[in-house]
Amino acid sequence: MVTPAALTGAGAAAALRAVRDALRAAGCPDAAYDAFCLVQAALGTEGDPRLWEAPLTPRQAADLAARTARRAAREPLQYLLGRCGFMGLTLKVGPGVLCPRPDTETVAETAIDLLRGAASPTVLDLCAGTGCLGLAVQRFVPGAAVTCVEKEPAAFAYLCQNAAGTPVRCVQADVRTWHETLPAGGADLILCNPPYLTAAEMAALMPETAHEPAAALAGGADGLNFYRALLRDYRRPLRPGGWLVLEVGAEQAPAVLALAAQNGWRNAFVRRDLAGHDRAVAAQPPAAAAKTV
Ligand code: GLN
Repeated sequence: MVTPAALTGAGAAAALRAVRDALRAAGCPDAAYDAFCLVQAALGTEGDPRLWEAPLTPRQAADLAARTARRAAREPLQYLLGRCGFMGLTLKVGPGVLCPRPDTETVAETAIDLLRGAASPTVLDLCAGTGCLGLAVQRFVPGAAVTCVEKEPAAFAYLCQNAAGTPVRCVQADVRTWHETLPAGGADLILCNPPYLTAAEMAALMPETAHEPAAALAGGADGLNFYRALLRDYRRPLRPGGWLVLEVGAEQAPAVLALAAQNGWRNAFVRRDLAGHDRAVAAQPPAAAAKTV
């Protein structure tokens, strides 16, 4: 436990050690790194490195003790910093929205590669959360018309903040019915990082992930519920030759490829993330006349 009283008047180095030791005792895997980030946030030293020199004020001490207690209770570090990096963007995050994962950059890169040469493609990011995928596409394909769709009110609030000042459009809707509002063949590329954890995985979450919204994680008993719905309902909104790009769990690519084939999707391929795990599945919609499943 680090208390405000113990931290008040302490130098930054002593505060760093105290926070690191408290986080270590709580079982945080990267205690030293997390301590550095929390001290930096509480002192505001990113803005002015000279602040490392001054003893902690009572206010800084109270701020740091509160952040340390939350991290010791295994809240994600990103929630305590209020932001998270993704594809060179800095996104606002906090309780109620899924923290963007480095693995998901593979999904963004796959979409950006598929859009190469397209001047002004229409792009939909479904289950957008922070908006990381749609915002990354907008950044690297500046001519794109990107719409991010999110259902949960807390996550939608982060999405709107992250999209502010960009051309990205935000829609609050449930992707399981939103397709009904879309014209046939209007989209060039649809990307989605749906909830895909199995019931068994939901029952054994890492402590940090357990603080994140279940609505962003739980994909039903076998984790595949959203893939079934997306591969059935998002054929029509894509133009012929367009692409659907899905994030998948490391073990799910074969099942998602099989569902895609059953639904008539073509030219499917899998991309691996930097850890070597299958992470993105991309496929093109069936020819217009095809009526499958
Ligand atoms: N990759 C996330 C995790 O394992 C899950 C994200 C998701 O369900 N879309 O925590």
